[in-house]
Amino acid sequence: MIPYGKHQIDQEDLAAVIDVLQNQLLTQGQQVPVFESALKNYCGAAHATAVNSGTSALHIACLALNVAEGDLVWTSPNSFVASANCARYCGAQIDFVDIDPITRNLSVEALAQKLEKAKQANRLPKAIIMVHFAGMSCDMRAIHALTAPLGIALIEDASHALGGRYLDKPVGGCQFSDVCILSFHPVKSITTAEGGAVLTNSATLAEKLRLFASHGITRAADLMDVESEGPWYYQQIALGYNYRLSDLHAALGVSQLRRLDSFIAKRRELVQIYREKLAGLPLVLPLTSSDSAWHLFTVELRQHDRSEIFARLQKAGIGVNVHYIPIHLQPYYRKLGFRPGDFPYAEAYYQNALTLPLYPGLSVDNQQYVIDTLISILG
Ligand SMILES: *Cc1c(COP(=O)(O)O)cnc(C)c1O
Repeated sequence: MIPYGKHQIDQEDLAAVIDVLQNQLLTQGQQVPVFESALKNYCGAAHATAVNSGTSALHIACLALNVAEGDLVWTSPNSFVASANCARYCGAQIDFVDIDPITRNLSVEALAQKLEKAKQANRLPKAIIMVHFAGMSCDMRAIHALTAPLGIALIEDASHALGGRYLDKPVGGCQFSDVCILSFHPVKSITTAEGGAVLTNSATLAEKLRLFASHGITRAADLMDVESEGPWYYQQIALGYNYRLSDLHAALGVSQLRRLDSFIAKRRELVQIYREKLAGLPLVLPLTSSDSAWHLFTVELRQHDRSEIFARLQKAGIGVNVHYIPIHLQPYYRKLGFRPGDFPYAEAYYQNALTLPLYPGLSVDNQQYVIDTLISILG
């Protein structure tokens, strides 16, 4: 089966992990700080905190921004459930803003309208989680212009977008957001097996993120409410979690990050080939973008039944997928009161969406097989 996404591991990755196993601390050693520093340099942010998943990153991002019971958080329905769950972990209420059917990202126009209504009802969100769907950044400058005057915090869920750019800068620099989170799950731009990170330019937020990622415990004298009792002394000053990344995973991340640009370049090449060779088929292709990190190549079927095409491609050994089942239609969210029809653009998009295989190791022959099979089914 040709998968829809896959990591790529080379000899240097293996050597980096083995070196940690043989010669270094397995956790709380040097690799995590090295990885954090490489991430913040790559993305152009002042601080990076590595954690054990993108989901953990979202959770501590919400905590650091004081999202709590009684608060409201908004996000896009066209995302993985973690983009909404993180607000629920904090006891906050979640609501969604429908997508723009062209970019498939949260619609700036829909957001402007929803903010206007929320202002009148005196029920503004505490934070908005912007998901850069398939690797293409949301229009963060426009979003920030809407939310900044209202004091609403912005979290970028850049799980798809590491290696992508926005307004001539790398995604992750937090130019128009409070924090930006990354995921290093194996299908993402780079992998640490499981892993994630939070980027920010705020020293205050960075300090809180670090606390929440490690039990709420500090060894910094200036954060303690009494004089340190000795070199062994630490204080727990908040309720935190063990969300730390291990040094094994971090070493893999450091090694992977060196090849990030080449991974993205390969994804772009493959996208260009899809674009040229699928042009004549009854498909809506994703928007052209030289800035996208191209996490996913997602098409919309125009004349065919998605279930049937999905089944035929799977049968041909092509691991197509669907991104995403709108979050609000999940049973958990329906129980909170969401209904079909609430976010019609996300629902309509979902009905016809199909994700084709795309990853740096996808061979020319395998991609050609995917293209030929699609042409024979749809042509
Ligand atoms: C992958 C992903 C996450 C969660 O990342 P994990 O590292 O798997 O926890 C969150 N949001 C989006 C949009 C993702 O694609």
